Amino acid sequence: MSWIAYTDQKPEAAGAYRWRMESIVVPGMFVTFIAHMRTRGAGYENVLSPLFDYWDGYRVHVPAGLQWQPLRAEDPQDVEWHRVAAVEVENLSPMPCPYCNRVPVLEGLQRYQGHSGCDRKMPSHYNEWSLKCCSWGNTPSYKSPIDLVERRDSVLRRISA
Ligand SMILES: [Zn+2]
Repeated sequence: MSWIAYTDQKPEAAGAYRWRMESIVVPGMFVTFIAHMRTRGAGYENVLSPLFDYWDGYRVHVPAGLQWQPLRAEDPQDVEWHRVAAVEVENLSPMPCPYCNRVPVLEGLQRYQGHSGCDRKMPSHYNEWSLKCCSWGNTPSYKSPIDLVERRDSVLRRISA
């Protein structure tokens, strides 16, 4: 299924869609995920806009180059409107875990500098990534999931050689 540029055409109804945007933390890396279009207040009117938009007091902004497509049949259909789901990094396929033989799930978050908050609403801003499967297979957090997978795969290849 091809991606539609948000500036060309926006989703016309509220609900969950797939989104694609470039990371601002790791340039050249693209993230995809599911998030809702929902109605929000924008000044004196209500507009339909994605969950991860930014309101500057005058207008609603979305990330440059934002793309979207309808949900696929295999996507989770029950994503809650206030969270993002199925966050993936394109062309990233970590090796299965040597303990449980499953391919681990990538998890990311945006950690704010200077205070202790974090957020998951904007995957293009995620700066802490880790892989999760069984309790033996969890990894440390990396700023770049590409570095994380390269490092992990090279260790796994060495111990299985
Ligand atoms: Zn495991």
